[in-house]
Amino acid sequence: MAGTRTAEKPVYRMFPVEVARVQRLGPSFVRITFTAECLRGFGAGGVDQRIKVVLAQPGRTLADFPSGPGWYQEWLALPEEIRPVLRTYTVRAYRPEPAELDIDFVLHGGNGHGGNGHSGNGNGATGHAGPAATWAASARPGDEIGVLGPDRPGTGRMWGCEWAPPASASHLVLAGDETAVPAVASIVETLPPCARGIVCLEVPEEHDRQDWIVPDGVEVRWFARRATAPHGQLLEEGVAAALDELHPRSRGGAVELDDVDVDAPILWDVPEDDASPGRFYGWLAGEATVIKRLRQLLVRDYGIPKQAVAFMGYWRDGRS
Ligand SMILES: Cc1cc2nc3c(=O)[nH]c(=O)nc-3n(C[C@H](O)[C@H](O)[C@H](O)COP(=O)(O)OP(=O)(O)OC[C@H]3O[C@@H](n4cnc5c(N)ncnc54)[C@H](O)[C@@H]3O)c2cc1C
Repeated sequence: MAGTRTAEKPVYRMFPVEVARVQRLGPSFVRITFTAECLRGFGAGGVDQRIKVVLAQPGRTLADFPSGPGWYQEWLALPEEIRPVLRTYTVRAYRPEPAELDIDFVLHGGNGHGGNGHSGNGNGATGHAGPAATWAASARPGDEIGVLGPDRPGTGRMWGCEWAPPASASHLVLAGDETAVPAVASIVETLPPCARGIVCLEVPEEHDRQDWIVPDGVEVRWFARRATAPHGQLLEEGVAAALDELHPRSRGGAVELDDVDVDAPILWDVPEDDASPGRFYGWLAGEATVIKRLRQLLVRDYGIPKQAVAFMGYWRDGRS
């Protein structure tokens, strides 16, 4: 069987992992490094790779998480008080040797020092504590959770990676809120030296800024809400300013755009490889309502072809 294994598709399975280190990155971020022998078989690939963290219910263990090919249906069928929690996160870094994986968790909902209690902003974004952020806020070396990911390497988007701009894209705009920071960090660190673009990131606090080594032609702009600005407002203003610089033509040149339902289970659209032969490529991720508005800004207001814009609702205010 070993010979045929590489020809098969990866399957998603649960890797039981242990916290090796916890590093506070800023008021709203904690980096948790996980380790386990089994991580040597983790299927890393791509730069914005999503995985799921698996958290046992209080007083329960990861043994509640079903294994085998039918795990998803079995997991759904579990009673709520037993069913382990699944939440989506980004692989910030994977090191096969010494079998480590980093995830940067946003400490929302009063779990961080810089919690944004602001409400009444149209999105709410009041940030009620959720199980994943709450777990991350008190994680200690030796704590155990599960990571659900592919069991062998793959390529491209198929294994939970969305960053795949067309070869023709020479002008990049990446925009996101704090939940997109780990994905954006991994993306910009791997851009070719010739890359050009503007990255706009909105975070809760000034000290949530991170320093990355990026190509000379790429500028990273941080916007801190500081508990005063509504979620997404500074990001939208920042992206509009970036578009004025990179794509100065077309504000007001209305383009037909189907409405998208931010309450649909997933707000997600990633163009196919090379679907857009243009020089521009946009990548947007964060709170779904804000991402919908950003997409409208790029496509409807600035006339950027929708095939050149990937948009991903990473979370939805008020919903788990
Ligand atoms: C592809 C993908 C990659 C992601 N990568 C990361 C990552 O690397 N790091 C990361 O921190 N998050 C990431 N997220 C977002 C993360 O999945 C959500 O924030 C998730 O809801 C957190 O789970 P929770 O258990 O803490 O809160 P939940 O139980 O899901 O939600 C509880 C409440 O908190 C609100 N809420 C959830 N997230 C936030 C937030 N960030 N700020 C304010 N309010 C919030 C919800 O609207 C809800 O009202 C990613 C999401 C996707 C889809």
